[in-house]
Amino acid sequence: MQDLKTKDIVYLPGVGPARSKLLKEQLNIHTWHDLLYYFPYKHIDRTRLYRINELTSDMPFVQVKGRFLSFEEMGAGRKKRLVGHFTDGQSLMDLVWFNATKYITKTIKLNRDYIIFGRPGVFNGRLQVSHPDVDPAESLALGKMGMQPYYSVTEKMKKAGLSSRSLEHFTQTLFQQMQEPIGETLPEYLVRQMYLMPLGQALKSAHYPETANELSHAMLRLKFEELFYVQLSILRYARERHSLRRGIIFPRVGENFHTFYNHYLPFPLTDAQKRVIREMRMDMGSGKQMNRLLQGDVGSGKTLVALLLLLIAVDNGYQGCLMAPTEILAEQHLETFRSMLKDMPVRVELLTGMVKGKRRTAVLEGLRNGEVNILVGTHAVIEDAVGFQRLGLVIIDEQHRFGVAQRARLWKKNTVAPHVLVMTATPIPRTLAMTLYGDLDVSVIDQLPPGRKPVKTLHWYDNASEGLYRDIHKQVQQGRQVYFVYPLIKESEKMDLKNVEEGYAHLQKVFPDYKIGMVHGRMKPVQKEEEMRKFVSGQTQILVATTVIEVGVNVPNASVMVIQNAERFGLSQLHQLRGRVGRGADQSYCILVTNYQLGKTSTKRVQIMTETNDGFEIAEADLKLRGPGDLEGTKQSGIAFDLKLANLARDGQIVQLARDTATRVLDEDPSLAHPENALLKKTLEELRADEMNWSSIS
Ligand code: ADP
Ligand code: MG
Repeated sequence: MQDLKTKDIVYLPGVGPARSKLLKEQLNIHTWHDLLYYFPYKHIDRTRLYRINELTSDMPFVQVKGRFLSFEEMGAGRKKRLVGHFTDGQSLMDLVWFNATKYITKTIKLNRDYIIFGRPGVFNGRLQVSHPDVDPAESLALGKMGMQPYYSVTEKMKKAGLSSRSLEHFTQTLFQQMQEPIGETLPEYLVRQMYLMPLGQALKSAHYPETANELSHAMLRLKFEELFYVQLSILRYARERHSLRRGIIFPRVGENFHTFYNHYLPFPLTDAQKRVIREMRMDMGSGKQMNRLLQGDVGSGKTLVALLLLLIAVDNGYQGCLMAPTEILAEQHLETFRSMLKDMPVRVELLTGMVKGKRRTAVLEGLRNGEVNILVGTHAVIEDAVGFQRLGLVIIDEQHRFGVAQRARLWKKNTVAPHVLVMTATPIPRTLAMTLYGDLDVSVIDQLPPGRKPVKTLHWYDNASEGLYRDIHKQVQQGRQVYFVYPLIKESEKMDLKNVEEGYAHLQKVFPDYKIGMVHGRMKPVQKEEEMRKFVSGQTQILVATTVIEVGVNVPNASVMVIQNAERFGLSQLHQLRGRVGRGADQSYCILVTNYQLGKTSTKRVQIMTETNDGFEIAEADLKLRGPGDLEGTKQSGIAFDLKLANLARDGQIVQLARDTATRVLDEDPSLAHPENALLKKTLEELRADEMNWSSIS
């Protein structure tokens, strides 16, 4: 195998300098090994020969054996074409070429058997195949041909005559040229136990399977291997952390916690809130560093959980820190904390990009000398300039982009790494969570506070706004507040801004008697905050906004969320936005306003939104609709897993299998010291070296 990795593709017979240059720059194929792992994106079954009279124009690719009777030039100008009259001995069909016609007439002979392959069609009432593949019958051993591989190639390659067919020839040559069998990359015992196809065979079958079954068996082996090493790597990180990294011990729940719990808790905790707090108290008392993910749908009350945990840190003589993704949210958390703790001797401060000058100096000073107990902030808090006296707990709110590498930066903020909790409302499907947050323990708040009525979701077309405005009018008259959200997509920020501003002007005309506020990303933070404050305090009834309000903003009196151009939002985003309402006791509504002409995916999204409020269901659907590649955070997770074959959306079972297997292997041999696991150890070391390179680049 090593050998193939160092053999330049230019030396593969039939490639040569020009084509090797294209392969390298267009497909990133530099070595023989790269080519071996450049798999076809599909196969077409060539095990069957058809008779011409069986063909219909709705068939996919077919092959027919027969002879050419004659060739004929037809048409003129752009319609000029070469027609070959072809027969299987019983019926006739036309084979048509629009270019390279000279080459065809020169190479194809009459009175000789050929196998033609292509997609049948009908033109002027005659059955025809355009641009078929033509091979002399004796050169193709039928029945042994199996499935024909199709490789993707770029336009530039096609122009240079480098087609899928060429790649097929290259891979064939590659297999012929390989002197030694391909070495196994998984331990023999795993291959045996799991009935996996041996690597050498799997690679060959992935390119040249004889049946569809053989192909899927081969792919299973290759995907499993890919996912298995990802899981093995993640689990080893997790275990190393558990066994090596000493954690701060919070032995007690002290005075602040009890005082708050007994006197200032605004409402009884839900059972789910109590349970997750218990889970985390166990972690923080264990002597190991906590690294936990707290999942809880929008509105499930994660902020209160965070506050209680921070108080435990304070009670044990440590400082705590809560990080939010936006300034607005950080400020809101600060306000919530300060008002809940107003009669208690706990000092909470804010640190964001906006906190400058003397105020900043004072906060930094207070952090260093330990007078500040709880810091709330944005990314600004991980800057190196921010030092704590004794940081014991960091809570990261709604930051899907906060992967292992970033978390590792926090560990350094104290001589003993502080406990880390990541909170998210964006439910992550299990298989993705295992990969993205695979090194974290997970707690789930699976219960909403009592008295919440599920938000009703309705769909309106944008040409029927009158009725919508009437409904909104009614809501505002009952004292409720309303959000109007407009999409914001970075590439066309100007246009989006126009959308919001026009929307604002329009709504002022529609609702002349109401006070309307506006927030968007282009506003100065001070202005933004002012507008938010007016809405929170009820001075404005309608808030026109971009997605800046997507995450975390909490205004229980707001009962209507109108999402304009809902077709331009992703599912999780819609769900997040919907979570901004339904926070009080009143019936709330989420209204998706879309264009009349909706694409297939948008229709599906709207349908899912109107049918369910279940965040997990939505996340699964989202993953299916978008594919995991788009999912925020996959790239930034800090673990280099550039999956080539496996698809996290579709291969959930293989992910699970890979995880279970990796767990079993590590349970039996934690340090991979057994000789039979030597291969695993070596491969992991190589993988980690890649990760190091990767993380220094990003
Ligand atoms: P999220 O989990 O989305 O961050 P929040 O923490 O913002 O949710 O909580 C949503 C709302 O629910 C807030 O108004 C909060 O005060 C309220 N809340 C939290 N816990 C409870 C509870 N146990 N009972 C009633 N209301 C609660
Ligand atoms: Mg929140």
